[in-house]
Parts: sequence; structure tokens; C-alpha cells
Amino acid sequence: TAVPQTTENARALLKTFSTASVIWSIGLGVFCFLSDQCLQLPLIQNNYWLRALSDNAVHGAVGLWSWAIVVGLKKRSDLYEVVLAGLLSSAVDADHFLAAGSLSLKAALLLPQRPPLHCSTVIPVVAFSMRLFMWLFRLKDSWCFLPWMVTISWVSHHIRDGARRGLWFCPFGNTAPVPYWLYIAITSSFPHLCSVLMYLTGTRETMSMSHGIAIDV
Ligand SMILES: [Zn+2]
Repeated sequence: TAVPQTTENARALLKTFSTASVIWSIGLGVFCFLSDQCLQLPLIQNNYWLRALSDNAVHGAVGLWSWAIVVGLKKRSDLYEVVLAGLLSSAVDADHFLAAGSLSLKAALLLPQRPPLHCSTVIPVVAFSMRLFMWLFRLKDSWCFLPWMVTISWVSHHIRDGARRGLWFCPFGNTAPVPYWLYIAITSSFPHLCSVLMYLTGTRETMSMSHGIAIDV
């Protein structure tokens, strides 16, 4: 085209900040706040299982919502991706049970140490290993979104847990609990940050090519 490259780049970058996606981000922040309020209800607080399950459902919903902001919901395949992102975020809590070696919720909640998938250092390690694996085995470009999806789902889970318990960067240690406003701010802005990084690393372009349709959030 006759459009200079820089103008085209700027336009593509701006697309990651469409009005709809910004509104959805604000919605995500509001959703986090409201669901955290609901989880404080005595009805939920007084029941171990109900508390654990509803907290996990919120983790799933936040992961799902975050990925929806990144891809936008345009096609059926987006829907599958979004569900996968939600499952990935919820799955982090399975390691409470794996580490406890039991399905007892009490044992899972009384672990002496936080289980390995709750260590935030694991996220970049897993994401880069996936990227390396895909590159080594020349996996199809249609999977290039996966390291990003893992990053977004797990970061959202860790930040939300972090508002209560701080972030754990093994082997370096724990941070203080993440201030509540910061947790909301990071959760709602992280999908956009990733969108921009995905754009800069060419992942968005590869995604839209392998999907055959341009992805504009
Ligand atoms: Zn957790």
C-alpha cells in the first residue's frame, strides 16, 4: 500500500485500544470488585467448599474475560480460546490439592507453603519454555497465542491472590500484599499491555494470518 509503514504501525497499535476493549477492561475491574464483595457474604464465608469454589470460579471468569479483551469475541474459535483461558486460570488452584496429596480441602488450605504454581517466577519460565518448544518443533503458528494465554491467565490469578497474600517470587521470597486498587488496576490493564506486546513481537499478525481474519479488538 501507499500508506507509510509507520502510519500503518501506529494504526494497528491504536486498534488494540478500541473503545469497546477499553469499556470491557473497565467492566473487568468492576466485576472483580463486585465479585470480591459477594465473596465476603457470610453465607459464602461460612462454608469452606462454597468459598473455595466461588473464589476459583471468579479466577476462571477473570482469566476468561482478560483473554476476551485480547482477542475480541468475533468467531467461534475465539469462544473456545476464551474458555481455555478461564480453565487455565482456575487450574492454578489444583496445585493446592496436588501439593497436599489429598482431595481434602482442609489439607489443601493448611499447606505449610504455597504450592509451586503459585510462584510467579514460574510464569515467564513456562511461557518462554513453550515458545522455545514451539520453535524447536516448528509447531504450527496457530498455537503462537498459547504462551500469551498462559501468561495472562496466570498473572491474573496471581495478582488476585496477591491482594490477600502478596506475590511469591521463588526463590527470592514474598512481597507484601498487593494494594487492592493496584490489583484492580493491573487486572484491568494487563490484557492491553499484552495486546501491545503481542503486536510488537508480531504475534498478533501471526494470529490474524493463521485465523484468516484480521483481529482488531
Ligand atoms: Zn490461587
